[in-house]
Amino acid sequence: MEHACGGCGRSVEDRFRFCPWCGTPQRSKLVELFRPHPLVETDGSRGLRVSRYLGAEPAARHVRFSVWDGDVATAAISVADEEAARLARFLAAAPATTGVRRRSVGDRARSRH
Ligand SMILES: [Zn+2]
Repeated sequence: MEHACGGCGRSVEDRFRFCPWCGTPQRSKLVELFRPHPLVETDGSRGLRVSRYLGAEPAARHVRFSVWDGDVATAAISVADEEAARLARFLAAAPATTGVRRRSVGDRARSRH
């Protein structure tokens, strides 16, 4: 299925979160769920939900982090886009410690050229 982009009017497949032609977000909120660490969080019933609100006005945009225990949110905090970007940089800078192999800093630096 396709729909018209609210930003440029061109046809965009529904599966896209952002318009491939102009970059306009195609949804007002993006949600991703993150599993707990299997050895540290032995209970296993909790999870982290990250909701990114893509308001039309920059000041309205924010990212909400909520800790869920089963189907109940037990804590939540919203941060501004700038803080979310800082968090992303903080996480991206951490070395891979398990499972998925990530490209090294050297690989990233080389790919920029
Ligand atoms: Zn567009």
